[in-house]
Amino acid sequence: MTTSTTEALPFRLFEVELVRRTVLSPNFVRFTFSGADLDRFADNGYDQRIKLLFPITGSSVASLVESQADWYTAWRELPDDERPPMRTYTIRAVRPASREIDVDIVLHGLTGVATAWGSTAPLGSTLVICGPNADFDGPHGGIDFHLPPTAARVLVAGDETALPAIANIIEKLPADARGCVLVEVPDAGDAAALPAHPGLEVIVVGRDHGAHGEALQPLVHEHAGRLLAEHEAEASVAAAAAAAAAAADSVSVDELDALDVDHDLLWEVPEADQGATAAVPLYAWLAGEAGTIKALRRHLVAERGIDRKAVAFMGYWRHGRVEQN
Ligand SMILES: Cc1cc2nc3c(=O)[nH]c(=O)nc-3n(C[C@H](O)[C@H](O)[C@H](O)COP(=O)(O)OP(=O)(O)OC[C@H]3O[C@@H](n4cnc5c(N)ncnc54)[C@H](O)[C@@H]3O)c2cc1C
Repeated sequence: MTTSTTEALPFRLFEVELVRRTVLSPNFVRFTFSGADLDRFADNGYDQRIKLLFPITGSSVASLVESQADWYTAWRELPDDERPPMRTYTIRAVRPASREIDVDIVLHGLTGVATAWGSTAPLGSTLVICGPNADFDGPHGGIDFHLPPTAARVLVAGDETALPAIANIIEKLPADARGCVLVEVPDAGDAAALPAHPGLEVIVVGRDHGAHGEALQPLVHEHAGRLLAEHEAEASVAAAAAAAAAAADSVSVDELDALDVDHDLLWEVPEADQGATAAVPLYAWLAGEAGTIKALRRHLVAERGIDRKAVAFMGYWRHGRVEQN
C-alpha cells in the first residue's frame, strides 16, 4: 500500500515478515525483515529511530495499518488487551531494491516484549514497523545526531542499545571527522558489530558482569579530557575565548541533579546551528541506560564546562522500567 506523494506523511506503517536471523555476537541478533512496501522505507542513516509493534493475542495490527495517517490515535484508543506493545529501535540497514531492512536487537532475556519476541519468533513471523516514508519530501525527524559544522572533535558514547546507532553514525561521518567512540557492551565479543573510521578512535569494553556504566564512565571522563586538551592546544586565543563564552551558558549542577530519570524522560537534543561560526571544541552524543547517561551528561556539562548546546543525550531505556509510549 503506497501513499501518494501529495498526502505522504514523514512516517508510516510497514507490514513486514521476518525472513532472516543472523547472530552477530554473543548478545546481538540481526533481524532481517521483508515487506512489499519496503522500497518506500527512507534510508537516512545516523540514529534514525523506528517503532516496532509486536503482535500479541487479540491485538489488531491490521486495523492500525488501515488507519495509516491516524494510526497512533487509533493505537492509543485500543483497549489495553488489544493494543500491540510498541518498542523503539534503530534502523540498521535499508535495501529498497530487495525490499528488506535490518534491525539489530540486543537480547536481554525474556523479561521484555521485544526481547522475548526476538528470542522466540520463528521465521515467517509478521509485525508492523513505523518508519520514515520515502514518499515524504522533507526531513523525517527521529534523528538526534546533529554535528555542528564548526565542531573540532566528536565524542560518541553509549551502551549496547546504542550500538546500532553508533555503527550508523560511524559509517556516515565524513572521513575528516576526528574524535572517539566509546561503547560499553555486555561481552567484549559484542564489539564485532562496529565499523572502523580513519579519524576516530573506537574503544569497546565488555561489562563482563560488572555494574552497568561502571566501565563506560571512566572511559568518557578520560577521553573527553584528552579531546578537550588536544583542542585547547591547537585553538587560537580567539577560539578559546568563544568557547569560554559558550560554556557560560551551561546548566548548573543543581539543575542536572534535579532530573529524576525514574519519572522524567532523559532526552535533550540540540539542533546544529548551520550558520554558526564559533568553534565548538567538542560535540558529544550520548545514549543508553538513563542513569548512566545522566551521570555522563553531568560530567561533560557541569564538570568539564562543555556547552550544553553541544551535548545530545538520550535515555534509551531505564533499569526496571518497561518502555512507555
Ligand atoms: C531511540 C532508541 C533507539 C533504540 N535502538 C535500539 C536498537 O537498535 N537495538 C536495541 O537492542 N535496543 C534499542 N533501544 C533500546 C530498546 O528500545 C529498549 O531496550 C527496550 O526497552 C526493549 O524492550 P523490551 O520489550 O525488550 O523491554 P521492556 O518491556 O521495555 O522492559 C522490560 C525490562 O527489561 C529491562 N530492559 C530493557 N532494555 C534492556 C536492556 N537492553 N538490557 C537489560 N535490561 C533491559 C527494563 O529495564 C525492564 O525492567 C533503543 C531505544 C531508543 C529510545
